[in-house]
Amino acid sequence: MLNDFTFAFIKPNAVKNSNIGPILSMINKAGFRISAMKMIHLTISQAESFYAVHGEKPFFRDLVKFMSSGPVVAMILCCDNAVEEFRKLIGETDPARAGEGTIRKLFATSLQMNAVHGSDSNENAIKEAAFFFSEFERYYS
Ligand code: UDP
Ligand code: MG
Repeated sequence: MLNDFTFAFIKPNAVKNSNIGPILSMINKAGFRISAMKMIHLTISQAESFYAVHGEKPFFRDLVKFMSSGPVVAMILCCDNAVEEFRKLIGETDPARAGEGTIRKLFATSLQMNAVHGSDSNENAIKEAAFFFSEFERYYS
């Protein structure tokens, strides 16, 4: 089904720490199909747009700086109930509160550098996928 996808990226800390492979492996083992993927180094203004919803938060400036500090690996991931299932796989935003065996528990280096992003709703998955990928780069399956 078209809506059964989510948008995700591996954040700069996990890319720098050579954790792309282990994270992709966990994503595949959890039953997600990777239907689009690319490595991209966001500019400050692209990171500001992506996280615009957090524009008024005290952590926004530092988050934008971090998110543009190195490349991310952006993906569209498909499986039934993808948004919810992926949020379960990554665990809570704060790695100290993330469950055992979740991606954030295993690979986060701080609350900010929490290794991965996952969309929080179908509506945002659609918007975020379109932010990173053009129509011809997407392979829903
Ligand atoms: N973040 C932060 N400080 C905070 C809360 C969040 O640096 O106090 C960062 C963290 O990288 C998080 C991102 O901002 O993943 C977006 O925050 P959100 O609340 O949307 O969490 P998420 O949806 O990523 O779990
Ligand atoms: Mg969020």
